Amino acid sequence: MTTSSDTIFALSSAPGRAGIAVLRVSGPATAAAVEALTGQPLPPPRQASLRAFHSPGGEVIDRGLLLWFPGPKSFTGEDLAELQVHGGRAVVQGLLDALGAQPGCRIAEAGEFTRRAFEAGKLDLAEVEGLADLIAAETEAQRSQALRQADGSLSGQVEAWAQSLTRALAHVEAEIEFPDEAIDEDIDPQIKEVVAQAERQIEAALADRGVGERLREGFSAVLLGAPNVGKSSLMNRLAARDVAIVSEEAGTTRDVIEVSLDLGGYPLTLADTAGLRSAAEVESVGAIEREGMRRSLERAESADLTIEVRDATEDMETVRIATEGLEAGRFIVLNKIDLSPTESACLCSSGHVIAVSAKTGEGLDRLIQALQDRLRDLSEIGKSSPVITRARHRLALEDCRAALVRGQGSDSPELFAEDLRLALRALGRIVGRVDVEDVLDVVFRDFCIGK
Ligand code: GDP
Repeated sequence: MTTSSDTIFALSSAPGRAGIAVLRVSGPATAAAVEALTGQPLPPPRQASLRAFHSPGGEVIDRGLLLWFPGPKSFTGEDLAELQVHGGRAVVQGLLDALGAQPGCRIAEAGEFTRRAFEAGKLDLAEVEGLADLIAAETEAQRSQALRQADGSLSGQVEAWAQSLTRALAHVEAEIEFPDEAIDEDIDPQIKEVVAQAERQIEAALADRGVGERLREGFSAVLLGAPNVGKSSLMNRLAARDVAIVSEEAGTTRDVIEVSLDLGGYPLTLADTAGLRSAAEVESVGAIEREGMRRSLERAESADLTIEVRDATEDMETVRIATEGLEAGRFIVLNKIDLSPTESACLCSSGHVIAVSAKTGEGLDRLIQALQDRLRDLSEIGKSSPVITRARHRLALEDCRAALVRGQGSDSPELFAEDLRLALRALGRIVGRVDVEDVLDVVFRDFCIGK
């Protein structure tokens, strides 16, 4: 089994051919291992120095930069070295072999550097998760949310709540311990107010409609519409690559096909679903297509956005009726305007009805802008409070809030104190101070080797 007395090493940059590769070494044998590879004394701390790195046989594997971070002022809190070499596969493999031959050194497991940083108290668990999200971030909004969490925005807020609740708990415990000094039997109203305030703030943080989680995982949109209205063509246009099969024959998109889009920094997973047919037609279609239709509707219900595609050459009146009373997050796209340009133009006064041609690309900018605006509005909801980015945070805050509500309802200082302790414990779970063992493996599994 692994122990932190081991010295670990790994390739920290992405594997494969690259201009530069970065290897990291961390642990007590780092200095000895690096000295053995370079045949020279360690360079001054935190300064890049040029070194030749040798194999155990004495052959030069490559020349590159060496950075030496003596503990505890390093990412892991341990002695740590970073080797920047040429990013060829043979160079990297040669160095990994050379490091593996050093006493006390072994290859790191996924997330092990960060785990050591956590264990050394360099990062708390919420910050670790922020770091994992930063590495995984694919769009600008995801990056900015992840960086805030990695920098401690959630941790700071949780810490502030924990501090007020700890003070409240200390007061209540004092009242229990020294009942004679208490003015009366009741819990000090000032203490109750501190607790009530924390509870209100936590409630506000929870009322974010899950924006942080959705931004992290990507918002979802579903394309709905009858067969042949041009859903697949539209999706291909939006994705700017061929992902769905476009066919003249009705009902070819049988299952849900997805593409991940970056709309002005917001991640959106767009699903093209099986065409929806009228009730009369449903009877005549096969079981597979019926199942496809069932899945379309199921997805539409849970989606953040629905995009209903209609054919501009069809009866305009139907479209007109369908556009009345559209709620936010629901869009109607009138496709094939290249075939009936004049009729469709008049319908597009409402922001939620957008006339496009998947064939010529006309109107697509407006559609993209409308979707982007909606995603920005959705993301604004969570801006004022600390962002909850995982179900784990939400569950802990819900537990905390429930304990605070219960505590405020009780007249006994003993029960109030117990609920405050439970509330604090729930907050401690978010930053990884209590009950961590079961979540650690899950959190660190998100990382790749070398991080
Ligand atoms: P789906 O069944 O809704 O996914 O529809 P498809 O994307 O497979 O399109 C059905 C047919 O309509 C294909 O022949 C497409 O080339 C055609 N089509 C799609 N969009 C447009 C458009 O904007 N203008 C024209 N003229 N034809 C289109």
